[in-house]
Amino acid sequence: MSMMYKSYQFRLYPNDKQIIMIQKTFGCTRLVYNYYLEKRKKENTTCFDTIKDLPNLYSEYPFLKEVDSCSLRCSLFDLDDAFKRYFHKQTNYPKFKGKYSSKRSYRTNYITNNYKEKRYENIRVDLKRKVIILPKLKEVKIRGYRNLETLPGRIINATISENSSGKYYASVLVEVNHIVPKIIPKTIVGIDLGIKDVVITSDGEKVKNEKIIEKYEKRIKRKQRELSRREKGSSNYYKTKRKLAILFQKLKNARKHFIHQITKKLVLENDIVVSETLKAKEMIEEKKFSKYLTDVSLSEICRILEYKAKYYGKRYIQIDSYYPSSQECSRCGYKNEKVKDLSVRNWLCPECGSYHDRDINASMNILFEGIKMYMKEFI
Ligand SMILES: [Zn+2]
Repeated sequence: MSMMYKSYQFRLYPNDKQIIMIQKTFGCTRLVYNYYLEKRKKENTTCFDTIKDLPNLYSEYPFLKEVDSCSLRCSLFDLDDAFKRYFHKQTNYPKFKGKYSSKRSYRTNYITNNYKEKRYENIRVDLKRKVIILPKLKEVKIRGYRNLETLPGRIINATISENSSGKYYASVLVEVNHIVPKIIPKTIVGIDLGIKDVVITSDGEKVKNEKIIEKYEKRIKRKQRELSRREKGSSNYYKTKRKLAILFQKLKNARKHFIHQITKKLVLENDIVVSETLKAKEMIEEKKFSKYLTDVSLSEICRILEYKAKYYGKRYIQIDSYYPSSQECSRCGYKNEKVKDLSVRNWLCPECGSYHDRDINASMNILFEGIKMYMKEFI
């Protein structure tokens, strides 16, 4: 038995009063984040220092007292994580949060205590009555998970967010007991990840983006052109902008759903899944495609593969070094520099005469590299 985390997302239907409180909390968590980012830029302070200092900020900004204090502490944890990622060279230096940044959200941690033998919990989900109890908001109407009677584990935290089309959500993270099946690996697959063909497997299968995703992409391009024709600040300009935001959201949801589908299929059908490290590759692909296409990044696919594999008792292996998988002949190992050019889709190996599909050949190499890594574990 092991502990796993699972998140449950609910659509929220807050009333007017609750909307005001949510918006206030967005504002206050952002203020705290930015205030201490400024401070940490100037002096060497730790996360612990900022938490200790937080009550002092209340006298300067008394309205901070109105919102859930736990959410303010959470934004200090987020700030600390941003610095940690920066120090580990994973991201750029932390940035200030803008009022109109695309992601408007705050997080609050679950707290429980027994006061006078009465159990108190700051976050609770009642699926029968279709409400979530959140700090300072009390009961908010929810929708989602009709087939569940209760959440199957201990609540860790909740993230409340508003998307670009003005809808509210709560994502509740739950710790669940999960029995991971013991599996002796018999099947292995190598996968090459891309944007046009999302997944190319060493079995020769190419998974393309779903039609619905392409449809949204086309509509987004059309709307973007329309927006550029509109006079900035006019009512039509905002109308188009809002429609565009809704389309982006739909695209995001469709892609998320799609990624969950393909990763699940890969993990269920194979005992070991091997993919490459994506840093260098992402940069190449990002140049070719506009930003919104890489919205759900390739590394997100890897992250999902990792936890799904764990969940089903399978293995996910990521080849650790950058490796020219597309340039090497998977049959004889000959390195063909000409394949560096991304427009070369098929090539004939001058050494052994094999005819290769660029991506399938790459996924074969990834497979072989994965087998090597797997075998090393037994030596
Ligand atoms: Zn060859």
